Amino acid sequence: MLNFALVGNPNSGKTTLFNALTGSTAHVGNWPGVTVDKREGTYKKGNEPINVVDLPGIYSLSPYTPEEVIARNYILNEHPDCVINIVDATNLERNLYLTTQLMELDVPMVVALNMTDVLDKRGDSIDVKTLEKRIGFPVVEVSALKGNNVESLMQRAIETAKTPRKGHSVLRESALGSAISNAEIALQLKEVEAPLFHAVKLVEKDSIEVETHPAEARAVEAFIQENLVNDTFQGDTEAAIADARYKYITKYFSSTLTRARKYSYDELSKSDKADKVLTHKWFGIPIFLMIMFAVFHMTFSENFLYLGSIIPAFGEWCGTQESVFFADGLNSPGVILFNCMELLTGQIGEWLTVGLQGLQANEVIVGFIIDGVWGGIAAVLSFLPQILVLFLFFSILEDTGYMARVAFMLDRIFRRFGVSGRAFMPMIMGFGCSVPAMVNTRTMADEKEREATVRVIPFFSCGAKLPILLAVSGAIVEAFGVGNADIITYSMYLLGIVTALISLLVMRNTTMRGETSPFIMELPAYHIPGFVNLMLHLWDKAKHFLQKAFTVILLSCVAIWIFSNFTWDWSYVGEEGMDSSILASIGKLIQPLFTPLGFGSQLNKNGWVFAVAAILGLIAKEDVIAAFGSLAACILGSEFAGATEEGVYEVTMMIQATGIDVPALIAFIAFNMLTIPCFAAVAAARGEIGKEKFKWTLVFWLATSFLVSTMVYTIGSFPWTIAVWAVVAVVVVLGIYFYNKYMDKKEAEAKSKKQYR
Ligand code: GDP
Ligand code: MG
Repeated sequence: MLNFALVGNPNSGKTTLFNALTGSTAHVGNWPGVTVDKREGTYKKGNEPINVVDLPGIYSLSPYTPEEVIARNYILNEHPDCVINIVDATNLERNLYLTTQLMELDVPMVVALNMTDVLDKRGDSIDVKTLEKRIGFPVVEVSALKGNNVESLMQRAIETAKTPRKGHSVLRESALGSAISNAEIALQLKEVEAPLFHAVKLVEKDSIEVETHPAEARAVEAFIQENLVNDTFQGDTEAAIADARYKYITKYFSSTLTRARKYSYDELSKSDKADKVLTHKWFGIPIFLMIMFAVFHMTFSENFLYLGSIIPAFGEWCGTQESVFFADGLNSPGVILFNCMELLTGQIGEWLTVGLQGLQANEVIVGFIIDGVWGGIAAVLSFLPQILVLFLFFSILEDTGYMARVAFMLDRIFRRFGVSGRAFMPMIMGFGCSVPAMVNTRTMADEKEREATVRVIPFFSCGAKLPILLAVSGAIVEAFGVGNADIITYSMYLLGIVTALISLLVMRNTTMRGETSPFIMELPAYHIPGFVNLMLHLWDKAKHFLQKAFTVILLSCVAIWIFSNFTWDWSYVGEEGMDSSILASIGKLIQPLFTPLGFGSQLNKNGWVFAVAAILGLIAKEDVIAAFGSLAACILGSEFAGATEEGVYEVTMMIQATGIDVPALIAFIAFNMLTIPCFAAVAAARGEIGKEKFKWTLVFWLATSFLVSTMVYTIGSFPWTIAVWAVVAVVVVLGIYFYNKYMDKKEAEAKSKKQYR
């Protein structure tokens, strides 16, 4: 089977083209470096199937970032039958810089001139025939987004793949041309593959190359010393080569572009103007926090734009309405959808009950289906709308190019915590799901930095933890009449973020010491996200959620119901006898573990439910609310009858049945946010950081969640304990400080010894 590789700058549209070719719905966003994973797929529209690989986005083939090394080694070692070089036609010069390097390799190649739809819209045009002649291999105009010309691109690539190609270089006539030719001859004599490419790299003094061919490197150096030291670049051959490439590109390649100048200029300046405000030195981050707050407000608030508070009469009137649209004021769009979903699940529950009664079903079966299975699933499902609304906003922010700016702004701050701005992307993805977020850390250059990031990703509360946040914070408001659900939710997200940052700081100063890698990134111009792409994101999310609801969650619900309705000798005890059930006895056994966290032995009769929910959460976080859904129905029995299936309602009932207080409930949320996230994430983390370190990661998650939750509970219940915690913090900080001083000294000694030798 033929094997084609897609190579291009970040944001040139590789992933979009990859999806168009292979028909997969892989994640598409304008994050630089999203594709560090090697993604493969099959193109099936031709005469024969073709394997297509989406290589990471790179600006050059130098060995400075992992992406560059991955792409370079892939092309050199795997010998793809054809390299498809994707060039963003709206950013021709920068993109062709990579093309001039790819040219030097001995592989068949075609240029896919992408984003030509934008070019057309602007009225710009490129003389493709001339460009093709000058570049030396086929150039095909495409639009990956619209799918234009993608098939003829593949046709040309298939033809091109038939004949081998010898590399050629735009540097032949430059000052370094003779140095390159000499090195090439030397390498040819040694029968090195792709001699021209390696020759150029030798002259550039590329670190990988100098190591592999030390003798030739010395010869090149001597030649340069003799002939070129006195030119403009003073022997800095890397700069000289880059300069020569750009000069050549401007002279021969970008001259084929005819601009309808004004339009593109306007667009660029618009983006620049927006950046003056959005990435402002002082206001940039406050603006980001405000945008985030607005997003949460639109998703969770029952008092949209605080209208109910601004106009008290309106607020009061809303309070009297029992409806989808009004609560403390106008509901936010997220809450309206939530209410609709709830009506729907409530209705289905009723139909099920009526249907089963009609069938004269046995009481146990009715209990099993209505309370056990449907109760749990409905509690989880009711949060789907809000999750989707939240993700819609996140995807919009990502696709417009705003998130890339945030990464850039946060880099300055992140550095103080020992990670680069590159960590921001995985962290933001963590708000969706830890699993892809952990995989995405592969863009990070430094291993220790990466491991530390994998560990804190779960603290960026994922979509599955959202129902816990919503139900428990809603129930706090409902049962105690204190606080405000969207502010509690927002603060819990912040608690997760703060814990993540502190953990990073601690790890990077103790077990994972090391330099923070540099972060270089080009910011794409702002643009309006594509509707189809947004919908694909959402569908992906919804599909994932539904799949889980009807597999893992369903199974858990069945198990919970069985274990909470039967005793160890498998006799059915039903709702009244639940206290003697299997689940209750296990729950009571583990309950004391959670006493320092406020939801252990201090609770009354039914308190074990919180312990069980917390443990079930280690399998999948959706299980926590599903467990409340199933158990509330059982424990509360007749009182509960007729209630709608609603997480908030169930937790409120549980609060009343167990006597848990506010600090303990907050500690319960904190525990769920910071502990072992779920089986899937555990597997992902293990894959990413290796077996040995992984064990410590589990310990780290358990320790952090116990520590922080205990802190939350004790400070909430006995405010004076803050003094104890402060002393502990000071001792830890001092300990870390002196440890680092000691280590720095040791490292400095080791270094000087090495030099001495
Ligand atoms: P990658 O980083 O190279 O994988 O780039 P992506 O495939 O993620 O694309 C970056 C951005 O450019 C996305 O927002 C795409 O929707 C957009 N894009 C990709 N191809 C085209 C195209 O042909 N025309 C237009 N207008 N936008 C495109
Ligand atoms: Mg990509």
